[in-house]
Amino acid sequence: MKYTEIMVRYGELSTKGKNRRLFISQLSNNVKKSLHEFEEIKIQADRDRMHLILNGADSDKVMSHLGSIFGIQSFSPVIRVEKNTEVICQTAVKMVKEIWTEGQTFKVQSRRSDKQFIWDSNDMNREVGGAIYHGIPGIEAQMIKPDIRVDVEVRYEAAYLSCLTIFGPGGLPVGSSGKGMLMLSGGIDSPVAGYLGMKRGVEIEAVHFYSPPYTSEKALQKAKDLTVKLTPYVGGIQFITVPFTEIQEEIKRSIPSGYWMTVTRRFMLRLTDLIREERHGLAIINGESLGQVASQTMHSMLAINEVTTTPIIRPVITMDKSEIIEIAEEIDTFELAIQPFEDCCTIFAPPEPKTKPKLEKVLQYEERLDIEGMLERAMAGITIEEIKSSDNFLNETTEAMDELF
Ligand code: ATP
Ligand code: MG
Repeated sequence: MKYTEIMVRYGELSTKGKNRRLFISQLSNNVKKSLHEFEEIKIQADRDRMHLILNGADSDKVMSHLGSIFGIQSFSPVIRVEKNTEVICQTAVKMVKEIWTEGQTFKVQSRRSDKQFIWDSNDMNREVGGAIYHGIPGIEAQMIKPDIRVDVEVRYEAAYLSCLTIFGPGGLPVGSSGKGMLMLSGGIDSPVAGYLGMKRGVEIEAVHFYSPPYTSEKALQKAKDLTVKLTPYVGGIQFITVPFTEIQEEIKRSIPSGYWMTVTRRFMLRLTDLIREERHGLAIINGESLGQVASQTMHSMLAINEVTTTPIIRPVITMDKSEIIEIAEEIDTFELAIQPFEDCCTIFAPPEPKTKPKLEKVLQYEERLDIEGMLERAMAGITIEEIKSSDNFLNETTEAMDELF
């Protein structure tokens, strides 16, 4: 079927009052960015719906992009035809024929904004319904919960038909909530946290701590590949690498082992917050889940969180591991995340981290450190690169190695 446009419904967006215009224009920009390869498409964003006028572009290809744009509740491929009763009926029959399978029921739902049109909506329901009934032997009409709903809308300029509604990912357009720094390790939880943050409109930048030579190049590549998996929702993502070796060595040297983890986390948070400030972010996002490990007890979080008043968004905080894994599988980060490359936390993990660290002790131990100097040197060493969906870090090195031998 040669569709002429895709009609996009906003869902939650349209209830956003004064913010609505902002949301819609953000969504419109995101759609434009995602569909940049289709130069012929014209985007028309109205208050309640967005119309993507295809001008010949392949509707299936276009729709495959829409499934990962947050803020889209659902969409339908639509055919625009002239306001001619015969053409409308023929098109409706052809459309339904293409998707109908034995046993499915249908219903026609018509709307007429052009009151001059010779059929009113009741006539249209009856006439188009009759044409489908006679045109497709075996099909039955069903008013309540039909399998196929044929929408017919007659406007001033033309008539529009559609009979397929595809659900989008919902949420809010990425960027409409501002920017947040995602603390991205190489694990299962933080990519899921990033995905959920984006789903609520947060534009993310990834901050990754690494400790060469204790952590391998592969661990870093893995974090970058996880970032690649998050790009379909936004296009490119800035990936910020923070050298963390000196800080971890210094902590190990000067702090009792029961407190390594607490102090390490405080440094990570301080640095992420400095980066956030520099890059005009509004929040920090991490993959903490309550009670999962020693650093994620409420006592630990209280002691760690003390270094900043910046909002910390913890999308997976109340989820069970199995619930997090379910999302990780859905967004295809799970397989990558369970690959065994040591990251900086596992290597410096103390034998018995405190699950109830005391803040006054933390402060007392930290007096032994040149905190400002340590932060400054780490900040001086950060590198920033844009990760795009076409990147592939782990495989690239394998290929390069293959070429060597
Ligand atoms: P994940 O599954 O995301 O790796 P985890 O199970 O390894 O988490 P922790 O190591 O306790 O859990 O980390 C908790 C959170 O701290 C992570 O979800 C992430 O947001 C942040 N974090 C941990 N290590 C790093 C790192 N090397 N770089 C950036 N952020 C990190
Ligand atoms: Mg975790």
